[in-house]
Amino acid sequence: MMARPWNFSAGPAVLPEPVLERAAAEMLDWRGSGMSVMEMSHRGKEFESIIADAEADLRALMGIPANYKVLFLQGGATLQFAMVPLNLMGEGGRADYVHTGEWAKKAIAEAKKVGQVNVVASAADANFSYVPAFDTWQRDPKAAYVHVTTNETIGGVEFHAIPQTGDVPLVADMSSHILSRSMDVSRFGLIYAGAQKNIGPAGLTLVIVREDLLGRAAASVPTLLDYKVMADGESMVNTPPTYGVYIAGLVFEWLKGIGGLPEMERRNRAKARLLYDLIDGTDFYSNPVAIADRSLMNIPFRLRDESLDDLFLKGAKVAGLLQLKGHRSVGGMRASIYNAMPLEGVQALADYMREFERTNG
Ligand SMILES: *Cc1c(COP(=O)(O)O)cnc(C)c1O
Repeated sequence: MMARPWNFSAGPAVLPEPVLERAAAEMLDWRGSGMSVMEMSHRGKEFESIIADAEADLRALMGIPANYKVLFLQGGATLQFAMVPLNLMGEGGRADYVHTGEWAKKAIAEAKKVGQVNVVASAADANFSYVPAFDTWQRDPKAAYVHVTTNETIGGVEFHAIPQTGDVPLVADMSSHILSRSMDVSRFGLIYAGAQKNIGPAGLTLVIVREDLLGRAAASVPTLLDYKVMADGESMVNTPPTYGVYIAGLVFEWLKGIGGLPEMERRNRAKARLLYDLIDGTDFYSNPVAIADRSLMNIPFRLRDESLDDLFLKGAKVAGLLQLKGHRSVGGMRASIYNAMPLEGVQALADYMREFERTNG
């Protein structure tokens, strides 16, 4: 097979190679059906087994309790920015949000279209380089839920502990770190994630929601935006993103095969440590995030001399290291090292960074 470069894209992102190979092998004939998964009826027994197996594997991986529904939706995490308030704000129309960066900002802006948003804490004072301490949050006693962005993909800031919100449901956008490590689902009312970072192809959105939070949407909420309708219809009220569900299922199987989330976490910690140790060991590179809040998945970094940025990126490309340019809002570099990025790829990046510093430092 053709040698593939290392892809550090923030999303859509790298997928596990065994998953792509399996999908290629099954492209024309899914397990004797004579059809590609893309050509199957979503009501047929073949696809029913695909979606049921995907859900069962996800439940096993994450330890999802029986009183939670798993929904396979569309519209990306961005549609969840609207669906969450439309479904959960209730008649009081109030919710708490934590402002940790670009994605939290977008979630807040969308929720404001639906009701009253109270920003309980913001890291704007330090350019979104940390998670505001839980005990400083100014919560609204009437809030229907508390919303957090547990991994800020652009800023590289991650929650490493889960806030206690008592009886108030905690809602989390986990788009860019779901399945990267074990997470106690029972601590959350609702978890959502676009698939294209750690789950599968763009076009699929995962929602995990506690059953008692279903059925709270106003009658005016459109059918497909009502979690209860989607849960009752087992994500098949209309045609679900069938191929995305299939690939996600293969990714879940791959995760189970390597030893589940504990093993994934061990690998992810080793990968992140390699890069953070390198960055912290020199003043040629820097990362602005508070050490305790650094992301294991998205590692933004700057060169001391930003006039070298283009040279760094050009050389990286030649070395087979792609998509390292930082987000346009923050500049610099960013290495996204999701589940499917092997240690070997991160090692190749670290070697390149050391060599670049030696020749340009
Ligand atoms: C990528 C991302 C989004 C947006 O996802 P879409 O699928 O493009 O809507 C939202 N939140 C976070 C944390 C993300 O990383």
